Amino acid sequence: MTGEGFVFSEKPIEIESGSGVTLTASDGTEYLDFGASYACTPLGHSPPAVVDAIREQAEELLYVQGSYPVAARTALQEQLGEVAPGDLSKVWLCNSGTEANEAALKFARSATDRENVVVAKRAFHGRTLGALSLTWKDDYRDPFGPLPGGVEFVPYGDEAALAEAVDDETAAVFLEPIQGEGGVHPAGDAYLRTAREVTEEASAALVLDEIQTGVGRTGTMWACQSAGIVPDVLTAAKGVASGLPLGVTLCADWIAEGAGNHGSTFAGNPVVAAAAGATLTQLQAESVPENAAAVGEHLRAELRAAVDEHDLPVREVRGDGLMIGVEVKRGSMRVLRELALSEQLLALPAGRSVVRLLPPLVIDESHAESAVDSLVEVLG
Ligand SMILES: *Cc1c(COP(=O)(O)O)cnc(C)c1O
Repeated sequence: MTGEGFVFSEKPIEIESGSGVTLTASDGTEYLDFGASYACTPLGHSPPAVVDAIREQAEELLYVQGSYPVAARTALQEQLGEVAPGDLSKVWLCNSGTEANEAALKFARSATDRENVVVAKRAFHGRTLGALSLTWKDDYRDPFGPLPGGVEFVPYGDEAALAEAVDDETAAVFLEPIQGEGGVHPAGDAYLRTAREVTEEASAALVLDEIQTGVGRTGTMWACQSAGIVPDVLTAAKGVASGLPLGVTLCADWIAEGAGNHGSTFAGNPVVAAAAGATLTQLQAESVPENAAAVGEHLRAELRAAVDEHDLPVREVRGDGLMIGVEVKRGSMRVLRELALSEQLLALPAGRSVVRLLPPLVIDESHAESAVDSLVEVLG
């Protein structure tokens, strides 16, 4: 099966190995990975400290049922509680992003005893039925209805529309601080602060989906930190365990009280927990989010300068940290294919017109400049 994101269906690139920012195909070609497989490898591919942690845990114990505390899981829960913003110290673990949002939706409904949810147009929150009901795109939704109801979509970034939609029957507002699949659109700090205010006034839960923006991607551990707000629930997945399947729902106490008997067999698997623990430790020890902020700023500046200098067919360069969208004036898929096949640069689409750059957060300025050169070659 090939999904929509499978860019190279006529000429598939079979990947054999990866190290740091490089992926190597089975024919020996090396690629600079500026997609990080949808932000799943913040430390680059197969980072040694994470691989060691996985190996050690696998030799110790692969799995034990969740009702027995196991050291790797307990340690991860403590670590997540410490890196969580504000008072979101209740940690719920699962196996993917969509499950993390599914849990957030269930907990918010149960904790508020309300049904309605407000979400943004162009939002992407996952593909299981609950999370899919919060996802905008018809392509993803239409074949699978009916979906759970009570969901209202509002224009993203419109403070008045959000304030108007939230009332005392709203269980939760779900938002991505920067919409990823929707085209790399930042909400802006003022919008996030309004979302915090209107949900607080209505005693509704503010759920921030940081599955793509989190774990250092935007230059701080969580994107909400730059807006100076703390949601009631924050969901994470993608890069949190360096590509092993882990979803995280960080909750305030009052939300955790709504957790009821939600559960999952594999949640907090010890090997996955060990991988996540090592990932978070290295992110913090090596100031990786700070690197993402600095190199991201350099990359955006170089991109904008190149667009001006070479008069490239680009409408806008936007984003934060190392979550960057380059809106092009021609089909993004064609640009991506050329970048891969003639420049050995791997990037991602975000809709038909946006080239999305989500490189590992450990890249340096020379990687950034090399990617800009490749874009100039292909777009020039
Ligand atoms: C990828 C993503 C999801 C879904 O995560 P899965 O692990 O694919 O289920 C949800 N929300 C956002 C913002 C994402 O980027």
